[in-house]
Amino acid sequence: MSPQKKYQVIVIGGGPAGSTTAIYLAKRGIEVLVIDGRDPIGTPLQCGELVPSNQEMKRLCPKVPEVDDLFQTPENAICRKVPEMHLVTPSGKRLRYDFDGLVLDRVAHDEALVERAKEAGAEYLVGVRVKRVSGKDAVLSDGRTIQADIIVGAGGHLDIIRRTMWSEKSLNIPVKFAIKEGTHTEALELHFGSVAPGGYAWVFPKDGCSNIGLGIQTRFARGVSLNSYAERFIDSYNGDTIYRGAGALPMSGTISSFSKGNHVVVGDAAGMVLPSNGAGITIAMIGGRIAANAIADHILDGKTLDEYEKEWKRQMGTVMARSKRAFGLGSILFRLPDWVVDLLFNPITKPFIWRAVTCRSLFSLRV
Ligand SMILES: Cc1cc2nc3c(=O)[nH]c(=O)nc-3n(C[C@H](O)[C@H](O)[C@H](O)COP(=O)(O)OP(=O)(O)OC[C@H]3O[C@@H](n4cnc5c(N)ncnc54)[C@H](O)[C@@H]3O)c2cc1C
Repeated sequence: MSPQKKYQVIVIGGGPAGSTTAIYLAKRGIEVLVIDGRDPIGTPLQCGELVPSNQEMKRLCPKVPEVDDLFQTPENAICRKVPEMHLVTPSGKRLRYDFDGLVLDRVAHDEALVERAKEAGAEYLVGVRVKRVSGKDAVLSDGRTIQADIIVGAGGHLDIIRRTMWSEKSLNIPVKFAIKEGTHTEALELHFGSVAPGGYAWVFPKDGCSNIGLGIQTRFARGVSLNSYAERFIDSYNGDTIYRGAGALPMSGTISSFSKGNHVVVGDAAGMVLPSNGAGITIAMIGGRIAANAIADHILDGKTLDEYEKEWKRQMGTVMARSKRAFGLGSILFRLPDWVVDLLFNPITKPFIWRAVTCRSLFSLRV
């Protein structure tokens, strides 16, 4: 980065949302700088590391075009391909579903996105945070100011632009997880009930270890801390803990507007997580591509940035609305006593539960 250079676009945050935005901006010939406080980007790990395969994404988000162009997960970023998901009740009963999931090496996944963006022509400045944004200025923690016509907030759920320029709040669910050595499951497991009030716990198999964690809605936790829930669940599995992490997920869906003047938000910063299943990585990337194309159309052809929201709604509006409805329903059901939750998971409700988790219309008997 040359010190005095002014960019067409600055992206704050080089996670899935920010790097994807940078990839598609750079492909359109836009001069883009990504700034990330982390060095290297992607560390420390804060993730369950599950994404649907591209085939599964085509089913989950049928209006998203060119899925294979968007998701080019390299083999070295995939720890394990798992063909089945189990929804597990408090008594240990399992509803089994076909689901093609990729359990990632998330750090390698995010590094690969950075490489793709650099190859397309994006520049990166890492190890320095953006302290403040004002108009076209991004003020850095080292005192420098860098300018751009458009500044994109892709800094996650605590993004600086979202925090300082949007008053709308998201429901951020706290999450804790650990990587444990050993083999704990052959399927992707989601556990419901008092194990994780208002949320769910997960066990995802990796290579020789598992990613095990949970998220709760604190208002349903009856004063018990997330730490206690997490320890109880994680400690119920054998094996040495080789890593512990935590974070938060925005679970109330997308916010009502994605741009204000020359400022734009994307990914977790804009609430782009599907609340019914916690999918945020792929959804942030879908948002990143849409944002990039709208910004490029704005810079190159004078189109309004409102096109970003319109295109998001066209591609993801129905999926997000269904996911929010399912999350609302789940928030009521999954704080009922465990024996009721057990009764609710049965062969008759099985297809409906799956359709809710995968953001499809409930009014069909097809799984
Ligand atoms: C514990 C946990 C488990 C999860 N599990 C899954 C899962 O299994 N599958 C899934 O799909 N999703 C999962 N998610 C959600 C997923 O991780 C997020 O939705 C996704 O990372 C969003 O991408 P993003 O680019 O918007 O934000 P992030 O990935 O959070 O990236 C934001 C980047 O911005 C940088 N940044 C922030 N502020 C500044 C600043 N002021 N200056 C400079 N840099 C800044 C940060 O350093 C970071 O690199 C999980 C989340 C958590 C917390």
